[in-house]
Amino acid sequence: MPELLNQIREQLAALQEQKLLRKRRIVDGPQGPLLEVDGRQYLAFCSNDYLGLANHPALHAAAQAGLDKYGVGASASALISGHTSVVEELELALAEFVGMPRALHFSTGYMANMGTIPALVGAGDVVFSDRLNHACLIDGARLSGAQFRIYPHGDVARLEQLLAKSNSSGNSPRKLVVTDAIFSMDGDIAPLPELLALCEKYDAWLLVDDAHGFGVLGPQGRGSVAHFGLKSERILYMGTLGKAAGVAGAFVAGDAILIEWLLQRARTYIFTTASPPMLASALLAAVKVMQTEDWRQQHLQQLIGRLRSGLADLPWPLLPSETAVQALIVEDNQLALDLMEGLRALGIWVPAIRPPTVPKDTARLRISLSAAHSNEQIDQLISALHTVAKHALAKNALTKKYTAAETPGMTRSTVE
Ligand SMILES: *Cc1c(COP(=O)(O)O)cnc(C)c1O
Repeated sequence: MPELLNQIREQLAALQEQKLLRKRRIVDGPQGPLLEVDGRQYLAFCSNDYLGLANHPALHAAAQAGLDKYGVGASASALISGHTSVVEELELALAEFVGMPRALHFSTGYMANMGTIPALVGAGDVVFSDRLNHACLIDGARLSGAQFRIYPHGDVARLEQLLAKSNSSGNSPRKLVVTDAIFSMDGDIAPLPELLALCEKYDAWLLVDDAHGFGVLGPQGRGSVAHFGLKSERILYMGTLGKAAGVAGAFVAGDAILIEWLLQRARTYIFTTASPPMLASALLAAVKVMQTEDWRQQHLQQLIGRLRSGLADLPWPLLPSETAVQALIVEDNQLALDLMEGLRALGIWVPAIRPPTVPKDTARLRISLSAAHSNEQIDQLISALHTVAKHALAKNALTKKYTAAETPGMTRSTVE
């Protein structure tokens, strides 16, 4: 066997040993609260389909109509011949919906960030990034060649120090602050008004990644910038379309000049085949459903409250979160896995998230809720979690297995 393959085989074996080897499970049928996984039905709390649109009849019908009108593929990049009328219409609808002058459609959120950051900043510039930002903001910043400054999670004072320092260096680099609007593993909301105020004070831009807020926060789900009522030429808003919008893709919205620049320079926009037009057709329907069925957002809010009060007396804390992402911090990796397995035996699927996806000693169950869930399904989860918690604690008392969780309580630190 070539040495290279040998090395990789050993690396895979090491992952297996550390219980970090990831496995996919095979899902059959449409997304929804009830998922058929490896041939068995589960009540699922693991999707980002926050409004229950991934299998909505209006989106089905619109996708079908788009398919009939445009066929399956876009056949070329948007700048050659792949920019269809339905995508043009979608960009206008999205800009209007989030209250920004102009929007540009990307194939995925990952590509949107990987294209946008390097189009705005480069060598000699500085990107400021929250410690808990999503991988694609980090990768986009690295790709840009700009300096990369990390500030502790949500620490506006520390960010201000870093901004002030970069201003005092004599030359005036371009400065870009990048942040998740809702942090994907914690569910908390970034202090966007404070971040924007700092950007104004220190002449920086603010890139807001609203993957988990678009469709969920703000009036009718217009997103986190609308939620805070912010307006500024300094904001670039990135919304993804595969989560609450139920389909796939992403967009970046902001000042018309900036968006024109992205169209000219974002390499992940220019050098890729445009996504299938029928997806844009389904997305136009999604934007409409968000406005005509805003009971979905309200129902989701009510489910969040129901879950939080139902879990309040568990021995582990839920992180503060008013969003669809609810993280139950159990600290110990094995305990998180045991709880996940216990739930699975009861027919409920909640993912355990461990380091390195989250900081050390903050292993958790990441519960994600959807407007497609019913009150009864939330109650089922609450009762199952109490059952598996009791079993885990009894086992713990016998074996002293979970050292980190012996004194339950949150010890999560904000390290720089
Ligand atoms: C999911 C996610 C992305 C990536 O979006 P895709 O469209 O799935 O590529 C970007 N940022 C955050 C915070 C996300 O959670």
